[in-house]
Amino acid sequence: MIVVNIHKKHLDMLQHRMFLLNGLALVLSSAVRIISCIAAMNSGIYGENHINAAIFAAFAISAFFPFAYVLYGMSVSDVSITDCPTKTRLFVTVPVSFIFLICMLSAGSTSMISFDGKVNVPFTWQNTTVTVIGLYYAAYAVAFAYSVKNAVEHRTLRSLICSGILVAVGMLCRMLFFAYVSPNLFYAMALLVVQLTAQRTEEYIDTVTEVPNAKAFRRCFEINKKNRKYNEVYVLYVENIRLLNLTIGFSKVNSMLKKIADYLEVLTAQNVFYCELGTFMLMPKLSPTEKEAFFKELKTRFSALWETGGSEILVSVRLMEIKLPTDADHTDKVYAYADYLRNSNNITSEVVQASMVALRDNSRILTVESCIKRALENDGFTMYYQPIYSTSEKKMVSAEALIRLIDPQYGYISPAEFIPISEENGSIVQIGKTVLKKVFEFISDNDIEEMGLDYIEVNLSVIQCMQKNLADNIMELADSKSVDSKKVNLEITETAAAERPFMLMQNMKMLVDNSYTFSLDDFGTGYSNISSMVDMPLDIIKFDKSIIDRAKMNKDGKILLESLTAMVKKMGKRIVAEGVETEEQLRELEKIGIDFIQGFYFSRPLPADEFIDYVNEFNNAS
Ligand code: C2E
Ligand code: CA
Ligand code: CA
Repeated sequence: MIVVNIHKKHLDMLQHRMFLLNGLALVLSSAVRIISCIAAMNSGIYGENHINAAIFAAFAISAFFPFAYVLYGMSVSDVSITDCPTKTRLFVTVPVSFIFLICMLSAGSTSMISFDGKVNVPFTWQNTTVTVIGLYYAAYAVAFAYSVKNAVEHRTLRSLICSGILVAVGMLCRMLFFAYVSPNLFYAMALLVVQLTAQRTEEYIDTVTEVPNAKAFRRCFEINKKNRKYNEVYVLYVENIRLLNLTIGFSKVNSMLKKIADYLEVLTAQNVFYCELGTFMLMPKLSPTEKEAFFKELKTRFSALWETGGSEILVSVRLMEIKLPTDADHTDKVYAYADYLRNSNNITSEVVQASMVALRDNSRILTVESCIKRALENDGFTMYYQPIYSTSEKKMVSAEALIRLIDPQYGYISPAEFIPISEENGSIVQIGKTVLKKVFEFISDNDIEEMGLDYIEVNLSVIQCMQKNLADNIMELADSKSVDSKKVNLEITETAAAERPFMLMQNMKMLVDNSYTFSLDDFGTGYSNISSMVDMPLDIIKFDKSIIDRAKMNKDGKILLESLTAMVKKMGKRIVAEGVETEEQLRELEKIGIDFIQGFYFSRPLPADEFIDYVNEFNNAS
């Protein structure tokens, strides 16, 4: 165990220190016992007094092990004897002082142990008391672990119970068979059990960088919080890890991360954690004056190159300062900030202050979730329709159905807010069905052809597209409401198209075979995957508002819009320009040759009846 522990990289924490203390107690106890054995076997050389003293020492020292074991048992849940409640402290320290006292008083007498060529351990009150206290400690350690069983892993709990029993056996053996079996043997077995289970410190070390990992960070954070020791946490994010993995390969990236970790270990005096995805958590203990120098040093180092496997690369990093406990009182919140740091693309300051970052508000998410649930139960969703104008026919020819949620308690909630939340919690599938049902009812209840409309566009979420039976559901629903598939156009988002999940392709194929048409929504916002336009059966491309807006900002924006338009038209697809708000924009877009216009310039999304009135009036006037 000594060899293994010396070579193992470990996390500096109470549990580890207490394990070492136990190991030391065991080594000391065993050493004294060996000395006493040697003395006893060479009674011709050593005097009787010396032999007696050595045997007494071996016997007395072996009584203290259960106490050390209790300290370890407590440290597993990060409880230290110095900062636990007075009652607990008394329960742990008073009995050991009795052992100490009894041993002191028995030294030199035969009341505990004597030697007359043979070892005798008499049944005296001294021995019984010491044994009972030892058993008490073994039981206490197990009971303590059990009382905090939610804070420790099951495996750890089982291991403490098992080793507690071994310690108890050792204590009994000490009193009954001290001459024949060393109690240290059982203590050693107890430590071995612990070593192999509860003490697996390698679980706290990241294998790539060899610094403590996310699990260790969580634990250290909790310990600091418990002890009200607050430091700042600095998140250091190494950019472009994915890209580097793809270009220079995993092994070079890993060796680079190792170098960075080594460097940070020195810089922070071992207060660095690696939490995957290129994210380091630094918790250096800095005074306000040292902070400046710390930032400066980081900046200097990361403006120089890192050598890895023969190539030298410049590593760019982002840095964030999180003040504890004001910015974050829980590791989850620290991770939320780290997520923010990773995902935001417009970071300008050298050190981002967590206090300036607005994270997603969890309580708001819960509120929205409850509103979604309520709306699903009480038919609280309604569909609005936004007309779409044809530049060639100069009239309204279609519309986009947009969902609306007005909660009786919280009022209007934007789909831009609740759709992502419903995608995360899975309720989007149910919402999607409701949307389709309502739109199909609208189409079958109103003669949209008569109004001059060819079809209604319906939004499909990414999750919906990946449902196995989406196509079947849509076709069944259309059948039951006698809706002609040509009157429906389905919008899929660019993200869904870019990822091209197998199920989406299957669903699309089946629907297209049944003469449904598709639009690509929000073109120009994400990764504009040009190839998806080529090999997906898309009829219409909807240019996002941002492309339209950029066209009026500068010359290049305009060139982009014109070229995209020419390209898409050459492919034989039609274009909807979204978010058109002014007459000037309309004229421009007409000139470029955009087919359809959607936006506030003509109308906001309207409730069904207002929409019907609007379209009838507009189309009859034109
Ligand atoms: P989207 O599909 O891009 O819908 C267009 C959004 O732009 C709508 O926002 C619409 O009200 C807004 N808009 C239309 N014209 C203009 C304009 O001239 N200027 C500006 N600034 N905005 C304009 P809305 O209704 O809030 O919907 C937001 C998003 O929520 C939609 O973006 C869509 O992604 C999602 N969504 C809405 N309804 C549904 C639905 O039934 N199912 C699914 N899966 N998603 C939906
Ligand atoms: Ca849409
Ligand atoms: Ca859109």
